[in-house]
Amino acid sequence: MPQPPHSSAQVAAVPAQRVPVRDRDQDAPWHTEAVCRRDEASLFFAPSKEPTAARLSREEAAKRVCGRCPVMVECREHALLQPEPYGVWGGLTAAERRVVLARRRRREVELQKAARAGSRIAQAG
Ligand code: SF4
Repeated sequence: MPQPPHSSAQVAAVPAQRVPVRDRDQDAPWHTEAVCRRDEASLFFAPSKEPTAARLSREEAAKRVCGRCPVMVECREHALLQPEPYGVWGGLTAAERRVVLARRRRREVELQKAARAGSRIAQAG
């Protein structure tokens, strides 16, 4: 059975609510290529009460792992679409994913407004 990304004995220490979504789709093809399946699980999820400097350092290390992962794009899209609320996925922290999602929502709204405006112009013309 393929192991999900971030899988190792260390994942067992991650609070249960942070793991299941990744486990649910563990048969997705991109998981089999995930670099983090091996042994870096503790890099990707914050332990409780992690000091800021330690968090930043850990997240940078996790991003370096993601940077050499062949399925980074797939992983990132997965984390954005779920959405995954915790951890580093696809080279993005949870906060960075929230920014990406907010940008996407704004772009979608702008496109809808432009489409409505175009429709009104076509009807008037
Ligand atoms: S991009 Fe990062 S989090 Fe995603 S599978 Fe690869 S190493 Fe894991």
